[in-house]
Amino acid sequence: MSRVVVIGAGVGGLATAARLAAAGHEVTVYERSDVVGGKLGRYARSTPVGEFAFDTGPSLLTLPQVFAELFEATGAKLDEYLDLVPLDPIVRHRFADGSTLDSCADPAVFAERIGTAFGPAAADDWQRLWRRAGRVWDASWRDILHRRIDSPLSLAPLAWRLGDLAAIAPGRTLRGLGRRYLRDPRLRTLLDRYATYTGADPRRAPAALVAIPYAELTFGGWYLRGGLGTLADALLSRCLDLGVVVQTGAAVTAIDAAGGRVQGVRLAGAAAPVRADVVVANVDALTVYRDLLPSPARLARLADRSLGGFVLLLGVRGPSGLAHHNVFFPQDYDAEFDAVFGAPGRGRPARPAADPTVFVTVADDPLVRPAGHESWFVLVNAARQGTSTGAVDWRRPGVAQAYADRILAVLAERGVDVRDRLVFSEVRTPADLAGATGAPGGTIYGTAGGLLRPPNRGPAQGLFLVGGSTHPGGGLPMVTLSAQIVANTIGPA
Ligand SMILES: Cc1cc2nc3c(=O)[nH]c(=O)nc-3n(C[C@H](O)[C@H](O)[C@H](O)COP(=O)(O)OP(=O)(O)OC[C@H]3O[C@@H](n4cnc5c(N)ncnc54)[C@H](O)[C@@H]3O)c2cc1C
Repeated sequence: MSRVVVIGAGVGGLATAARLAAAGHEVTVYERSDVVGGKLGRYARSTPVGEFAFDTGPSLLTLPQVFAELFEATGAKLDEYLDLVPLDPIVRHRFADGSTLDSCADPAVFAERIGTAFGPAAADDWQRLWRRAGRVWDASWRDILHRRIDSPLSLAPLAWRLGDLAAIAPGRTLRGLGRRYLRDPRLRTLLDRYATYTGADPRRAPAALVAIPYAELTFGGWYLRGGLGTLADALLSRCLDLGVVVQTGAAVTAIDAAGGRVQGVRLAGAAAPVRADVVVANVDALTVYRDLLPSPARLARLADRSLGGFVLLLGVRGPSGLAHHNVFFPQDYDAEFDAVFGAPGRGRPARPAADPTVFVTVADDPLVRPAGHESWFVLVNAARQGTSTGAVDWRRPGVAQAYADRILAVLAERGVDVRDRLVFSEVRTPADLAGATGAPGGTIYGTAGGLLRPPNRGPAQGLFLVGGSTHPGGGLPMVTLSAQIVANTIGPA
């Protein structure tokens, strides 16, 4: 049996802890915050009309089979812990010309919907793209998402068939793929949006990200009754049942290593170090390599930072008639990416986008809203927190409130004016996410979009990295797969 310390109780940390405890290890999780879940955060507000509850992070669960496998591997059943609700539409897209398109998990039905909304040529284009997306998904699922990728060399022995490589098209961007297959600009916009699932700009993100819409629109998009945050409760309860010790309010300040081997960790305010045979860091790779175990070579290899999110949590009177997930696209999508990423090299600082895409989630779930009311989660792409030209200082007085007002005005311009129906509004900026979860700059996904992310093996023996900033990437299912990879690498006690 090894003594394992997990730093951070995000989804990746808890999932790794549960797997390792089930495999017979003695596991302790140290979490700096008072609650578990990390970016899978929650907020509740009591008002005279009743209690509103919100997810402050994820609103869409995909690839439920990944979570079912996690629960099974730890001796439990997913549906005993969580109530999964399939969504149709998964997302209602509203384009700048006023047209709408509802996505769903049945490719034939989705193609029909495209045909009805945009014409048969658009449906044919999508189906051609879909065949290619399927090949990319199959190759990714088989060869990338379940195994360690320690360096570009790890890709060499995969013996990808030529067809796989041609489909993945290293070197092509997601934007380029859309241009090649899709003639309708609205479908190109729809495809572009999936780059933001990794916090990236579609003009730079790899074409292989076409696997993301493939997974979402093949295996479905899901809500968890009571909110996505119930996943954090379920993982915590699984960990506790398996004997994991979860200590909240415990920040790790350093990882100790000697002779190329990990020795343990140091906790804020504690005199004695904590000894461990294995340390699993669920904090951002940047934090590990800059602060916890300074590793200049690894630090230098980290790619660009991903996007952050600007979030409004709205208590709203009356039914809105909105779908569960709604995306309101702007006229000029590129102007939004130009704003949130900026072009620091060309003297254009990042800034809040004046006319951004607005994503609104309204769960039709009595567990999260008082009768006759709705809890709205509104999300807009935003530059990370910082004072450099590639970031926005969201802490500057007035910046966050002015942008919150702007987003409500944008929604009104797009036909959804909620301003006279507000019971309250709460703002969450990237600076708030950084404060709550320690994510550097409040970025959602750590580094942005590339296929080669920081590896799960750290620079010292016995040190592993898990979570959204590492391989295979961000988002709840990917983070859960990274826990599987790490636990399999560590092996049974
Ligand atoms: C606004 C928003 C919307 C999103 N939407 C979706 C979505 O719809 N679907 C989806 O699948 N994903 C979505 N995501 C992404 C998803 O939430 C993340 O990819 C995932 O939750 C990250 O998990 P993680 O394991 O990387 O850990 P994190 O959530 O990053 O947790 C890391 C934990 O480590 C703790 N920690 C940090 N430093 C220390 C330290 N020094 N000592 C101890 N503990 C420490 C933190 O407090 C935190 O609890 C969204 C995220 C955000 C913010």
